[in-house]
Amino acid sequence: MHDLMTAARRFPETVSADPQRWARLSAPQEPEVLLVTCSDSRVVPAAVLDAGPGRVFELRNAGAVVPPHVPGRAGAEQATLEYAVRVLGIRDVVVMGHSGCGAVGALVGRDVPAVEVPEVGAWLAPLPVPRDDDTPERESGAPPLAVAVQEHVLHQVAALATHPVVDEGVRVHAWFLDLTRGRVLRHDPAAGAGHEGFVAL
Ligand SMILES: [Zn+2]
Repeated sequence: MHDLMTAARRFPETVSADPQRWARLSAPQEPEVLLVTCSDSRVVPAAVLDAGPGRVFELRNAGAVVPPHVPGRAGAEQATLEYAVRVLGIRDVVVMGHSGCGAVGALVGRDVPAVEVPEVGAWLAPLPVPRDDDTPERESGAPPLAVAVQEHVLHQVAALATHPVVDEGVRVHAWFLDLTRGRVLRHDPAAGAGHEGFVAL
């Protein structure tokens, strides 16, 4: 924490050292995309997308979850999506899961926390359990939980489609961030259904 506080104190100097990169900090935001992704600290959208301030509107939670639409429900996901589309005019929504996701690991019963986490359980309980690959990753060489996360992302895309604002000209994209190789895959329905349709970006 100490190092992070030091960096925060130095932030004004960071900004003044590269004014061009940070110019959009104080301008009205005009983000190009809503990125729905996991809270995992290893997922750093600004780095993956090489995007500075103002370009990516983010919705993050445990597991990159999009609950199905319920009219009038007070929920961060629903409100953020509506704001992104109607107020900011965003027309591209990306759901990006990542390899080794703890939430998905818990969903498929492979990464169950050793302590009591009833709130996490309640958050994950309504979600469809994604298909999993029972071949150990150390044998297949695949990134951890790749199949389960990719299937999970497609479930969230399906849930997104229940939100009325998505019918307002929004394109939805399913991505998978492989943290072990630092690469991003996208789902191409023409390449295959489910996880088999994930191809290089
Ligand atoms: Zn995660």
